[in-house]
Amino acid sequence: MERRNTLQRRLVLDAVRTLLHPDAEEVYRAVSAKKPNISRATVYRNLHLLAEEGAIGEIQTGEGADRYDHEARRHCHFRCRACGKMYDAAFFPQPFPHPRYEDGFFVESCNVEFAGLCPACDKKYQNKETDHGQATQRHKDGG
Ligand SMILES: [Zn+2]
Ligand SMILES: [Zn+2]
Repeated sequence: MERRNTLQRRLVLDAVRTLLHPDAEEVYRAVSAKKPNISRATVYRNLHLLAEEGAIGEIQTGEGADRYDHEARRHCHFRCRACGKMYDAAFFPQPFPHPRYEDGFFVESCNVEFAGLCPACDKKYQNKETDHGQATQRHKDGG
């Protein structure tokens, strides 16, 4: 590796650690805020390299762009359907059992994703529901 790649790499790694499971575009925005002349291709390449080396985790989300994780060890995620943020599913026992052999199956990867509302959005949602609940069966004069 060239020595001059070290700073780019460090910036990319810092962004992944600071942001909450960012996608490549979010990492690019964070890095370019600190180093405006960095190219998108450079950031993307560094992300791929770091993921390949196992320095960071890569989360295939099924829908939308893949995300990156400061925690490379396998763990479950929770995606909030309201704000779109992805959290580590701390409520679920982690890490998983040994990944290789489960009842004779050679397990190579596993992607568990919980979905719902994060605490912040759940709170907002419940407040709204209460408002709606009070308004139910009543007609409002506009507004
Ligand atoms: Zn949320
Ligand atoms: Zn994670």
